[in-house]
This record gives sequence, structure tokens and C-alpha cells, in this order.
Amino acid sequence: MSKSKYGKKVLKTVVKHRRCGVCFWWKRHRPGQKIRQHKCVHNHYGSARSMEATSGVQGVQELMKAGIQVEYLEGDGDNTLIAKLKKDLNINMKKRFDRNHIVKNVGKSLWALHYDKTVKLSKNVITHIEKCLKYTFAKNQGDKAGMEKNLIALIPHQFGDHSKCEGRFCGYCRKRDEVYRHRSLPHKGPLKSPVLQTKLQAIFDPLILSVDQLIDLGSSQQCEHANREVTLRNPKHIHYGNTKAVDYHVHATAAFVNEGRHYIPKVCLIMWL
Ligand SMILES: [Zn+2]
Ligand SMILES: [Zn+2]
Repeated sequence: MSKSKYGKKVLKTVVKHRRCGVCFWWKRHRPGQKIRQHKCVHNHYGSARSMEATSGVQGVQELMKAGIQVEYLEGDGDNTLIAKLKKDLNINMKKRFDRNHIVKNVGKSLWALHYDKTVKLSKNVITHIEKCLKYTFAKNQGDKAGMEKNLIALIPHQFGDHSKCEGRFCGYCRKRDEVYRHRSLPHKGPLKSPVLQTKLQAIFDPLILSVDQLIDLGSSQQCEHANREVTLRNPKHIHYGNTKAVDYHVHATAAFVNEGRHYIPKVCLIMWL
């Protein structure tokens, strides 16, 4: 995906097949015979898990061959591709976290606490903490010190400890002479359990350590959109895999995301000529 400055276009599509439908049929129904001539789609060897990283490396390689500089890699914090790029191509790619993915990952840990029998963490509190985190990210982009302070104060604040808070994000600090009510917390009061506080802090500590990456968050919304368009054209209940069909669908989706539906008559014209 290119930067918004250029209009957020799909620049590269890589389709990998772990199995070829024709090869598979011949091996199963005509074992030992020579497989008939066909356009084989089998182009991925190894586990399905390694597919994402291998495709990523291939994509970056092809883009660079075409003279396009790739500066950032945006994603959910998965390091396999970055490590593989370093190993195979010796490129140090800068990593950029995606905002939604970070909030989602924290949410996952919070829900794990919800089902933890030793502490009580309700759905409302989880939603509230997620909301706080989203605000923190939105308010402190590009401000390292601010982001750090805000993240450090986030959990203690919920427990009524405002010693690390600042007026810009804490109502208690703004109006010290009034009684502060935690509007989104149960009984409008601070949370109490010290065990819960330790466990919540343990979720937020890694975030505080990686504050450098958090002040420059990307949004993979457009990527997710493109992904969704692909899944719409390749629905799971109809198995298009193992044939070239997937490739055509993916390329058509890229054309659609970049140009809109006008690509269809253009293709028809080329076909007629
Ligand atoms: Zn084949
Ligand atoms: Zn506070």
C-alpha cells in the first residue's frame, strides 16, 4: 500500500499456492503417471505459516527491483517478516505499529483477565480502559514525553492514584477542590483491588517501554479494506484455491481498489481489440 499522499493504492499483490489442483488430481487418480502439461500454480514450498513472510520478502524484492523504495513496514507487531528481510536481503526496515492492532492486542490481554478467576474485571471497565488507550494514542502522536507520562499514569489513575496524572488528561488534577468522580467506572469510584492493579500494570508496562514506536502509529485501515475486498471475491465457502482463479481475483481486486469499477470496461476493450 502506498502513502496517503499518493492516494493509497495497492502497489503489489503476491499470490502463493501451496498446492496445485491439477498436480493433486493426477497424483491421486493416476499415481505413477506423468502429469499432463498445465500451468502449474504451485509456488510455495514449506509451511503455511512461513507463507506470509516469504510473500512479503518477494513483494519487497520486486518493488525494489522496479525502483520503488520501501521505507516502513506497517503491521500488527509481528516480527517474522522484518527478521526475514534482514536475513535474506540485508535490509533494515523501519517498523510501524498499527493503532487498531495495538488496542486489539491489549484488549485480548484484558479479556484474559476478565476470565481469570482471581480478579474481577468487568466488560464496562475493559471498554473504558480501551477507550483511554485510544485517547492516549490519539492525543500524543509525535510527543514522546507526553505519551510516556500519559501511559504511566493511565492505570494508577483508575485506582485513584493521581500522583502521576496531568491536568490535560485527568479531571482530578483540573479541579482539585471538587470531588472527582470516575464517571465510567462502576459506582463512579476508583477501582480497588491491588492484585488487579498489578496485573493491569503488567499489561501496560511493555507499552511504556516501546513508547518510541507508539508516537508514530500508522493506520492499516486501507489495507484492511483491500483485504476485505479480496475476501469478498474469494469467499471461503467456494474453494478457488489450487488454481489460477485466485490470482485473477486478487489482481482484479487490486485494480478495483486503485481505479474503481471502471477497470471492467477497460479490460473488455483490451479483450476485444
Ligand atoms: Zn501443477
Ligand atoms: Zn488522575
